[in-house]
Amino acid sequence: MAGSVWVVVEQWQGQINDISFEALALGRELADALQVPLEAILPGPQCSTLAGQLGCADTVLCADHAALAEPIPEVHAAALADLARQRQPRVVLVPATNNVWGVSTLLGAILGAPAVNFAIDLKASDGALEARCVLYGGKLETRVRLTKEPAIIGLWPGARPADQGRSERQPAVEQVPVSVPSDVRLRLKRYIEPEAGEVDLTREDILVAVGRGIQSKDNLELAEELAQALGGEVCGSRPVVDQGWLPLSRQVGKSGLTVKPKLYLALGISGAPEHVEGMKNSALIVAVNTDPQAPIFNLAHYGVVADALELMPALAEAVRARKG
Ligand SMILES: Cc1cc2nc3c(=O)[nH]c(=O)nc-3n(C[C@H](O)[C@H](O)[C@H](O)COP(=O)(O)OP(=O)(O)OC[C@H]3O[C@@H](n4cnc5c(N)ncnc54)[C@H](O)[C@@H]3O)c2cc1C
Repeated sequence: MAGSVWVVVEQWQGQINDISFEALALGRELADALQVPLEAILPGPQCSTLAGQLGCADTVLCADHAALAEPIPEVHAAALADLARQRQPRVVLVPATNNVWGVSTLLGAILGAPAVNFAIDLKASDGALEARCVLYGGKLETRVRLTKEPAIIGLWPGARPADQGRSERQPAVEQVPVSVPSDVRLRLKRYIEPEAGEVDLTREDILVAVGRGIQSKDNLELAEELAQALGGEVCGSRPVVDQGWLPLSRQVGKSGLTVKPKLYLALGISGAPEHVEGMKNSALIVAVNTDPQAPIFNLAHYGVVADALELMPALAEAVRARKG
């Protein structure tokens, strides 16, 4: 429908990513404020099987096309532009992840529309849209006013809780034909799966995170024991990974993973912006640091000024005793 708010849903091998639900939550707020419908755009072959999960939207537009199976920005942007020309949305929210990186910018270029990336919030104010965006990995924030439509917004993870964008309601589903370019310059050669047996930290509820403050690889054992007692997994800051104490698959932050566990226990981590970027949306952050001025305490819900090396075994013991 013309004038609606769009959320481009990102799916990967039949699974809808959390950021799509985050985008739906934000899109719902915006659509209600503008009093227009919220439409979820679901690209990919046989995508209608996933449409039932998108009840936060009023309508799901299924762009069922084989060429949209691969995460190639050029193809997705061309298909979206084709659809946008047909249906004239007012706002297009595109999740900014590695899978669809570049889609929002390309879409803006094709449509001659304003495109803003790294947005963490979006509001309608005084007849225009105002996007709040992060720069330099969260060190700076900027507010951008968009006066032309459609406004294309590349959404950064964490804009809203994903659960806010989930709904049991069944949306209306519509099949929409899209055309894709035949002369695509980018080709996907192969996928490289992470090593078998590695955990997916982005799905863990409890993370025991260690930083340079644990001082040596030998002390990692204390964190592993604590994680085992709590039923969680160990992850770390970049120096811990750079020194080879933990594999890269366990690094949290700007050049690592973005995690959102129920509990993030930060042990001997100073709280540099590049680390915070990857864990700031954890539901409960508990920081342990010997330095009371450590920046991590500005973010933590609970802070303990203590030696993590002494605290870890004592805490593991207490948890085990409590669990019986
Ligand atoms: C482009 C770029 C990308 C980056 N990407 C990432 C990233 O993805 N993830 C990341 O983490 N970093 C990243 N960094 C690095 C980042 O800037 C910080 O250097 C890093 O996060 C610091 O790690 P840390 O907190 O473990 O170490 P430090 O900053 O050295 O902090 C160690 C902390 O331990 C405390 N401490 C010392 N002994 C104890 C003890 N016994 N008990 C308790 N506390 C103790 C100290 O008081 C201190 O606060 C990136 C940097 C750049 C430039």
